Amino acid sequence: MSEQYQHRARKRFGQNFLHDAGVIHRILRGIHAREGEHLVEIGPGQGALTEGLLGSGAQLDVIELDLDLIPILRAKFGHEPRFRLNQGDALKFDFRQLGHEPHSLRVVGNLPYNISTPLIFHLLDHADLIRDMHFMLQKEVVERLAAEPGGGDWGRLSIMVQYHCRVEHLFNVGPGAFNPPPKVDSAIVRLVPHAKLPHPAKDVHLLERVVREAFNQRRKTLRNTLKGLLDAADIEAAGVDGSLRPEQLDLAAFVRLADQLALRTSTV
Ligand code: SAM
Repeated sequence: MSEQYQHRARKRFGQNFLHDAGVIHRILRGIHAREGEHLVEIGPGQGALTEGLLGSGAQLDVIELDLDLIPILRAKFGHEPRFRLNQGDALKFDFRQLGHEPHSLRVVGNLPYNISTPLIFHLLDHADLIRDMHFMLQKEVVERLAAEPGGGDWGRLSIMVQYHCRVEHLFNVGPGAFNPPPKVDSAIVRLVPHAKLPHPAKDVHLLERVVREAFNQRRKTLRNTLKGLLDAADIEAAGVDGSLRPEQLDLAAFVRLADQLALRTSTV
């Protein structure tokens, strides 16, 4: 890289740039972009993944917040008609401006770890537009995304993401693949929005409410944590044992509780 393109990594933008060619290759193979597809890369940085993504022949929108990286990206990829540079905050980005065709966008990114959870929730609001998502995240977050009921990793993030998506933990990446190296291990996850929700709730906002309330105090029984929303009879009517703790319930049971709350809200 020539002198004029030197960029110092900024902590506040969560900048850990990928430099391991083997890891970059493995991520690109996992994404397997093809000509004619519409990809969206969040946080392209200095273009470690961007180059390979464009090489596939796909159309690529990138969203980068750091103004200093814009001229670097423009110089590297600006000549390519399939490349579109969007400067701004991915958390506020309206993905609908990229198109309305259902399940057409393929979203990828080595995400800034400080915004990964809110960003995933923001993207779930656009799940109908998204075909799949491939993200580099903190390994611990990927474990929570892919968790199953019964363990300590199962919680709000697992439930709300699995409501919308199938989750695959693809592989782990050590700190040495990045510059500067992060303090934690990382992993690549694939999220595929369901074409048809396996457990549709009457109102997804009520599901969010029940799940948030239940996991606010994960050591307590459901009867206790849900007291403000549902009484013992409601919980029983949902076919749930109120003496269980939230981590023992699967997604379908949380949806039944949320539907019970919907019933109660509609009759008050
Ligand atoms: N993709 C590059 C790579 O793998 O080397 C950079 C990854 S780095 C972990 C995260 C990137 O996201 C940085 O380029 C950072 O400036 C950018 N970024 C941070 N916050 C952002 C936000 N809110 N919206 C869009 N990009 C953001």
